[in-house]
Amino acid sequence: MNSTIRTTCPYCGVGCGVLAERKPDGGLAVRGDPEHPSNFGRLCSKGAALADTLDLDDRLLYPDINGERVSWERALDAVAQGFAQTIREHGPGSVALYVSGQLLTEDYYVANKLVKGFIGTSNIDTNSRLCMSSSVAGHKRAFGTDTVPCNYRDLELANLIILVGSNTAWCHPVLYQRIQAARQNNSALRVVVVDPKHTETCEGMELHLAIAPGTDTWLFNGLLVWLNDNGHAVPAFINDHTQGFDAALAAARASSPTPESVARLCGVSEQDVLTFYRWFAETEKVITVYSQGVNQSSAGTDKVNSIINCHLLTHRIGRAGMGPFSFTGQPNAMGGREVGGLANMLAAHMDFAPVDVERVQRFWHAPTIAREPGLKAVDMFRAVEEGKIKAIWIMATNPAVSMPEAERVRAALAACPLVVVSDCIGITDTAKLAHIRLPAAAWGEKDGSVTNSERRISRQRPFLEAPGEAKPDWWIMTQVARRMGFTDAFPYESARDVFVEHAALSGFENDGRRDFDISGLAELDSAGYDDLIPVQWPVTRKRPHGTERMFGDGRFFTDNGRARFQPITPRAPVNALSAEYPLVLNTGRVRDHWHTMTRTAKAARLNSHTPEPYVEIHPQDAQALNLADGALARIETRHGAMLARAKLSANARRGMIFVPIHWSDQFARRACVGDLVNPPVDPFSGQPELKHTPARVAPYLPRWHGFVLARRQLTFTDATYCVSIKGSRFWRYEIAGDTPPEDWKRWARAIVCAPQADGRAEWLEYLDAGHGRYHGVRLFTRPNDTTALESCIFIAPDPQLPSRSWLAELIVKTSVSPDERMNLLAGSAPRSQVETGPAVCACFGVDANTIRRTIRDKRLTNVEAIGQACQAGSNCGSCKPALKVLLDEVNVKLIA
Ligand code: SF4
Repeated sequence: MNSTIRTTCPYCGVGCGVLAERKPDGGLAVRGDPEHPSNFGRLCSKGAALADTLDLDDRLLYPDINGERVSWERALDAVAQGFAQTIREHGPGSVALYVSGQLLTEDYYVANKLVKGFIGTSNIDTNSRLCMSSSVAGHKRAFGTDTVPCNYRDLELANLIILVGSNTAWCHPVLYQRIQAARQNNSALRVVVVDPKHTETCEGMELHLAIAPGTDTWLFNGLLVWLNDNGHAVPAFINDHTQGFDAALAAARASSPTPESVARLCGVSEQDVLTFYRWFAETEKVITVYSQGVNQSSAGTDKVNSIINCHLLTHRIGRAGMGPFSFTGQPNAMGGREVGGLANMLAAHMDFAPVDVERVQRFWHAPTIAREPGLKAVDMFRAVEEGKIKAIWIMATNPAVSMPEAERVRAALAACPLVVVSDCIGITDTAKLAHIRLPAAAWGEKDGSVTNSERRISRQRPFLEAPGEAKPDWWIMTQVARRMGFTDAFPYESARDVFVEHAALSGFENDGRRDFDISGLAELDSAGYDDLIPVQWPVTRKRPHGTERMFGDGRFFTDNGRARFQPITPRAPVNALSAEYPLVLNTGRVRDHWHTMTRTAKAARLNSHTPEPYVEIHPQDAQALNLADGALARIETRHGAMLARAKLSANARRGMIFVPIHWSDQFARRACVGDLVNPPVDPFSGQPELKHTPARVAPYLPRWHGFVLARRQLTFTDATYCVSIKGSRFWRYEIAGDTPPEDWKRWARAIVCAPQADGRAEWLEYLDAGHGRYHGVRLFTRPNDTTALESCIFIAPDPQLPSRSWLAELIVKTSVSPDERMNLLAGSAPRSQVETGPAVCACFGVDANTIRRTIRDKRLTNVEAIGQACQAGSNCGSCKPALKVLLDEVNVKLIA
C-alpha cells in the first residue's frame, strides 16, 4: 500500500478529508487533508486522535454463534437460514434490518436492495432516523425531494448565519472553525444562535436567542409574518416558483402575529426578537443552519419547514451565501438517504409511488419488491417487543443504548428469537444480546464512499489490512443474499461494483426529474473509482464535476416544479412537565466523544475533557435540590433512572438539565441516558423527541465515594456507580457504593493486587475506619531498585477526594522520587510541583490551570496568543471557545 492514503473521517457529517500516513517506525499518523474541500486540512479533536483508536482491543475478529467461534461459512449459512425460515413461517414482515449512518454507501446499498427488493419488506431503518429524518421529511415537503440546497462555501459567503439547535462548536467543529475564520475575514458577518441552552457556540457571537425549549416554530412563524408585513417578501419568486404561500402566512399569523407575542411565547425579550428579524430583513446573504436541536423533536419536521418558509418568502435559496442548511450528525447519514436506508424511502431518492416501485423493480429485476414503507426505528423495536419481528440484523450501531426507552429495547432484543449483529466491536451493549456476531471491517480497513452534509461524495480508502477474519459489510450481506437464493442479483466482487450499480440506478429513467443523479459516475472503472476526488451530487454527463448549489434556476422537484410553503401550526412537546417531573431533560454530545464511545474511548486524550457522565444543571435549580457541584445525582423520568456527576453551570437554562448521550454499560454502570428518554416521535419523520423528556433530579447519597488508578483494567462488582476511563497507559475508575466493605484493606488488595513477575510490591495505607476514609497505594520496586506507582485507591464518605491529575502523571512515570513518595498517601503534589487542572486542549494535553497561569503571567489578550505560548488550541482548534472563556475569566480578575 502507498505510505500516504487519502480517506475521510468516520465521525461526523462534516466529512473531513484525512491523510493517513505510515511513519518510519511503522506506526500511523493522521492529519487533515489540505486538498479536501470540506476541511482544507483542518481536523477537530476527534479526527486528530484517529490514529489512537486503531488498536484491536475489544475488536470482534471472528464470527461466532451463541459465543462459540465458527467459520464464516457456518455463520453466513446460519444467518441466511434463520432469515429464510422466519420469512417462510411468518412472512417477510417478520424480519428487519437496523443499520447505521456509520456504514459506507456501498454497504447501505446492498442492505437496502436485499431487504426491499428481494426479501420483499421495507423493514430496514437506520440510526439516522434518530439524527436527521425530520430534515428529510421537511425537505421533501418543501422541495419534493430530500435536497440540501447549500454548501460549506456558502457559510463563507454569507453575511448572516443563524445556527438553530446546533452546538456547532462541539458537534461540527470544523464548520465552526470555518465560520470563525469567515468572521475574521468579513467584519460584516453576524452570527445568531437560537438555542435554549448557552453552549460554547454562543461565545463571542452577536446574538443568542435562548428561546424556551420547543418554541422554534413560533419564532420562525413570527419571522415569516414580520418579513411579509414589513415589505421583505419577494413576490416575483413567490408567484413564479412557489405554492401555498397564503395558507402558510395565515397559519403563521395565527400563532405568531407580532414580535411581542413571539417574545412572550419563546421566553426572550422583544428587543432581541426584533433585532433578529431586522438582521434577517436587512441582510441578503442569510444561511440558516439547523441540526439535532431542530430535528430531534416531535415537531421536528414543522420546525424545518418553518425555517424553509422564511427562505422561500425572501428568495434566499439557490443563491450564493443563502439557504436553509441541515448539518447531518453522522458521517454517512446522507449516503444512507441516497440509497433508501430509511424505511419510508425506496432507493436513489425514490419513494413508494407505484411508478418508482415499478422502475426500481425493473432495474433490480427484483422478484418481490416491497410496495409500501416499513417500520421506522421506534416502531421497529416495538414490533420486536411485540413478537411481530422475529429476526433482526443490526449493523454498526448500538440501539441497546441509543434508542429511547433503551432498557425496553434491550429486553425486546433479549426475547427476540434471532438477533444478528455485525460490528467491528464485540462487546457493545447490543452485541452482548446477539445470537450471531459477524466481525466487520473498521475504519482504515474499509473501502467505499460517504456523502457529507453538503452532498459531497468522498472516498473512504483502506490503509490497514482487516484483522482476524473481519470483512466489509457489503461482502457479508452479499454472501447472505447469495445463500438466500439471489446470486444473480448480488454479483459484487468489490465496493466499486456496488457503487457503479448505485450510480446507474440514480440515472435510470431520470431525465433530470429526480434530484439524486450520479449517473456521471456509473462508468467508473476500478482505477477511476480508486482515484475519485470529492464531488458534490448531482454528477451527470452535463455536470461531470458535480453541482455546487441547488435550485439556482428556481425549479424544484415537485410535480409542477414549484417549492411548497407549508402551513405550520406550532405544537408543544408531547409530554408536558408536571409537579412530579418538573425539569426538561435535554440530551446531546460532548466535544470529544462520538456516539456510544466504542471508538473515541480508546483515545486517552479524548477521555480527558469529559471523563464522566454528567448532568448539567443551573446553580439555582441545584440549590433548590440540595445538589452540590461534583456530587452524584440521580436523574429519573417515567421511563428509567441513571446516575451522573452534577455539573453546576450558569450557562444551563433554569428548568432544563442536559445529559450527554455517550455512556453505556460498556463504560459506566447505571449511566445510560437512553433509558430515560421518552418515545414520542414526529408524525411525519418518525424521529424521536430526544431533546425533551420530563425529568426530576435528586442527590444520590452513596455511603462511600472513591477513585482508583491502576496500570491494568479492574472490575468493581460492589460499586453502584462505576465509570471506567482509559488514560495514557493506565485506567482510572470513579466509584461509589451503598454498602462499604467490612475491611477496606482486604477489599483493596482483592481488587488491585496483580502478580508481579520480577520485583517486589509494597503497600502504603491510611485508614480512618470511624470516618470511612481509606487511602491505599501500591508501589512496585524493580530489581534495579527503582520504585514506581502501580496503583492507588482513595475512598471517602463524600466526593471530597484528592485531585486525580497529579496521581495520573505519577502512575505513568518509571519511578517516583522520595518527595513524591512522601506525598502519595495524601494524594497531593509536593509543594515544588504545580497541580494541573481539568483538561482543555485534547491535542496537546494542556489543562485549565496551566492555561490560566499562562494568560496571567504573560498578560495574554487573545486565543491565538495562548496557542503561541502553550500550544493550547493551536492544532484542531476545538477548544478555542473554552480558551476564550478562560481568557475572559482571568482578565476580568486581573482588571478587578
Ligand atoms: Fe471528523 Fe471532526 Fe471533521 Fe467531524 S469535524 S468529520 S469529527 S474531523
